[in-house]
Amino acid sequence: MNKIPVLLLCLLLAAASSAQKISYRMSFPNAVHHEAHIELNASGIPLKPAIFRMSRSSPGRYATHEFGKNVYDVTATDGTGKPVTVNRIDGEVYEVPHHNGKVTVSYTLYGNYADGTYAGIDPESIHLNMPAAFMWMKGMDDAPIEISFEIPKDNKGVIATQLVPTSNPRVFTAPGLQYFMDSPTKIGDLIMRQWTVSNPDGKTFTVRVALEANATDQQADELAAKVKKVVAEAMAVYGEFPNYDHGTYTFIASANPYVYGDGMEHRNSTMISSSFFNVNRLPAVFAHEYFHNWNVERIRPKTLEPFNFEKSNMSHELWFAEGFTQYYGELLLARAGLNDEKNYLQILAGLISTKQNTPGARFYSPVDASNHAVYVDAAVSIDRNNYANMFSSYYTYGAAIALALDLELQTRYGKTLDAYMRAMWKRFGKPEIPYTIPGMQEVLASVSDPKFAADFFSKYITGHEPIDYASLLAKAGYELKKAQEGRATAGINATTNQQGKFVISSNTVRGTAAYEAGLDINDELLKADDTNLKSSSDLTNYLQNKKPGDALTITYKHRNTDKTTTLVLKEQNFQVLADIQTVSPAMKKIRDTWFTSNVK
Ligand SMILES: [Zn+2]
Repeated sequence: MNKIPVLLLCLLLAAASSAQKISYRMSFPNAVHHEAHIELNASGIPLKPAIFRMSRSSPGRYATHEFGKNVYDVTATDGTGKPVTVNRIDGEVYEVPHHNGKVTVSYTLYGNYADGTYAGIDPESIHLNMPAAFMWMKGMDDAPIEISFEIPKDNKGVIATQLVPTSNPRVFTAPGLQYFMDSPTKIGDLIMRQWTVSNPDGKTFTVRVALEANATDQQADELAAKVKKVVAEAMAVYGEFPNYDHGTYTFIASANPYVYGDGMEHRNSTMISSSFFNVNRLPAVFAHEYFHNWNVERIRPKTLEPFNFEKSNMSHELWFAEGFTQYYGELLLARAGLNDEKNYLQILAGLISTKQNTPGARFYSPVDASNHAVYVDAAVSIDRNNYANMFSSYYTYGAAIALALDLELQTRYGKTLDAYMRAMWKRFGKPEIPYTIPGMQEVLASVSDPKFAADFFSKYITGHEPIDYASLLAKAGYELKKAQEGRATAGINATTNQQGKFVISSNTVRGTAAYEAGLDINDELLKADDTNLKSSSDLTNYLQNKKPGDALTITYKHRNTDKTTTLVLKEQNFQVLADIQTVSPAMKKIRDTWFTSNVK
């Protein structure tokens, strides 16, 4: 092919795609019953059956969600306004077989669950996670999008979103489907606070807090002041802010009884919801979500790219994307002076316990835990699962790995985990190159050495070897000690049911006395030795004077058969962190670079 036809072809293609456009009109004729009316206009579409659909996944969520269930009254017209046939060809998929290049699909959306994942529609407050609300047309992902809102009269009409503003305050745009779906929107009585931040290259950005809460101006100021500190500490980890697409980052935060607790990160915003307003507790969610600006929004695993709105993406790296973010969320609070050392150490002890005591972290790798997110991340089913024995949350498990790596880097290489995060940012985040696990290992090698990085990944990331936290923490002057030394536990979680039977109420956990004795969920406990068991207090009282290693004869009923088993008590394994007697200068040095402020 010579040059001229190629150029012509390009021009023709450009002309065809520039004619493609999607616009939405959203109105609320029945907001009092949590309904919205949505019109999707698609123009410049190819003359073949047009497929419109609701999403089954959402940016920041890792499991499949069936958003199609809350959509009904679906109709369609063509470019002349004439009704055309629309066939429902799957639960969430609609087909318009014949049209003239332009189709308007109209439908009703029900939304009554305001959080980071779903939609909440109320005359006073419109709360939208886009995949939960908006149908989209297959094959038109790159078409520019415009959306206009007709706001209910009872609504104060303040709009917070990362969508691109236009001269009309109720009309916004997005360059395409991926950005549109990633842009949650809140409309209502929002208290706005904002400030300017700048990068070393002089570029400035606006950070906004849009708050829906029954809060005074002073409380809003107080929250904004704390968030400002967290923002500064997060930036200090990486040395620069991301280049926000339209110059602004927005915390869309709802703190009131009409929302459900959640936090969902997006490219230039986050949707935070909490059923209470508490100026001391909210910054933790802000810190976690803001850290995602770098870690996951731009330092992005290849497995999550691009968003697949038809089913969830399975990821191998959530132990890092979520777990390291979890670790830093807490660390940023400590560095910003919003959490004291004692509390912070308690949180670390909890992370260590996850790695040391949960079967999910003892027998499965962080990669395995990440893979299971497609089921665990609020994907609902009614049958029982065995998570207690094979899954540990990639949040806490990943954070426990972050703690170990932080201490390894500090004690072996005189660096903090910040050095690794910054190197990940430079290699993958800033140039927006999706990473893989081998790439992460290479970056770790660059801030440590290749042998250490290879060992760390094979032992603790793709493997699940135990971690010697006690030795690592000792170098920072902390002792890991048993919280309840000598205290015996049977590992039984049982409650008295409505029939007065004392029944094991959750899966017994691998490694516990109950599991090893062959006791299982739903078994009815009858006796410990000769003592009748009717309630938790009977069991607790009986165990009071027992020691780890003591054997009990448990009489129980499994289905309809009375059985006995020997149960050998174990020691409570929860641990706490405590200061050692003398903190040496070397230990002090580690503490000073670890959780004290990095803001210059
Ligand atoms: Zn997160």
